[in-house]
Amino acid sequence: MAIDHERVANPLSVTVVGAGILGLWQALTLSRQGHRVRLVEKSATPFAESASRYAGAMLAPGCESENTPEVRDLGPRGLALWREVYPHLVNGGSLVVAAPRDYPELSRFAKATAPPETLDANGLAALEPDLGGRFQSAFFFPDEAHMVTPDALEFLLDAVRLSGAVVELGAAWTSPSAADVIIDCRGMSASRDLPVLRGVRGERLLIRSEDVHLSRPVRLLHPRHPLYVVPWGGGRYVVGATVIESEDAGGMTVRSALDLLGAAYTLHPAFGEAEIVDAGAGVRPAFPDNLPHVEIRDGGGRIFVNGAFRHGFLLAPVLAEAVAGYLANQTPHSLIVPA
Ligand SMILES: Cc1cc2nc3c(=O)[nH]c(=O)nc-3n(C[C@H](O)[C@H](O)[C@H](O)COP(=O)(O)OP(=O)(O)OC[C@H]3O[C@@H](n4cnc5c(N)ncnc54)[C@H](O)[C@@H]3O)c2cc1C
Repeated sequence: MAIDHERVANPLSVTVVGAGILGLWQALTLSRQGHRVRLVEKSATPFAESASRYAGAMLAPGCESENTPEVRDLGPRGLALWREVYPHLVNGGSLVVAAPRDYPELSRFAKATAPPETLDANGLAALEPDLGGRFQSAFFFPDEAHMVTPDALEFLLDAVRLSGAVVELGAAWTSPSAADVIIDCRGMSASRDLPVLRGVRGERLLIRSEDVHLSRPVRLLHPRHPLYVVPWGGGRYVVGATVIESEDAGGMTVRSALDLLGAAYTLHPAFGEAEIVDAGAGVRPAFPDNLPHVEIRDGGGRIFVNGAFRHGFLLAPVLAEAVAGYLANQTPHSLIVPA
């Protein structure tokens, strides 16, 4: 289904609450289908209070199936929908490497993810010359993609406006409105209404190096601190991310900075001279199964979309399609759970 071309026969009045990645995709998809959409966000500065601003943001269903096997099946649809909507997606695939002392991690990862391609040192050097001679082998997931997070969020917010939806910033939603349907995408702020929702802290650094040139995300496996480096262009790299069972949204700890920077240095020693541009932490909303859910309440008048954990960017379009299908009385989607 091409989501932006099928307009509904009976448009509804829809309020989407929260302009993180889930709310943006809900608003865009439903507005393009002809529903009358209002997107309300409590922060006056877009994304300032969202977890989404801290994302990598990789679309990596193969790599992420290591811990959440379901994303292997759900993720390709997310990738396809991003490719329809976002022209600046970087479609270069992802690489996975390990330092020689951590080679057992490569076999464990391969068992869990069944990588489509294994590269030797020459194959790796052909894809990423700066890693040539540094690792004896690598896994390559050619169909994965990534984006520059702030650019993608701004693009989607503009696209929501251009679709005809009304965007209200600095507007904290508190109570039911006159809309036919409220789609609640408040992330961690919805935890009082979703008692099983928990927060998983993720810290990440933004660094700049003129000496390292990578063109696709590289994951460095490690028994305790698996890391990824995501190129954002202009010498910028996101180095992430910790996964800590905590709802503390405070600044990055020294321990986490040491872990992330140590791993970046292992990936390439020239990162030792990189400039630290930004350090931050977001709290990922997660359900016990670490999969996002759509929960329908009040006979369809209130729809919660939440729990995206590590997969908010990958699965936001899939969740939007699931809700659009529900509103159009289509077949139930596997991500829609009973209240
Ligand atoms: C370090 C890190 C790296 C990550 N990397 C990736 C990645 O590579 N790929 C990937 O797919 N995912 C990644 N994720 C996960 C992804 O970022 C999350 O799953 C996603 O951000 C969750 O989005 P959300 O829209 O549910 O919540 P949020 O982004 O938190 O958005 C919720 C919004 O609701 C607003 N709000 C709250 N209450 C109200 C109210 N009463 N009225 C109006 N607005 C309200 C908030 O201000 C906020 O803007 C990463 C996360 C982190 C922390």
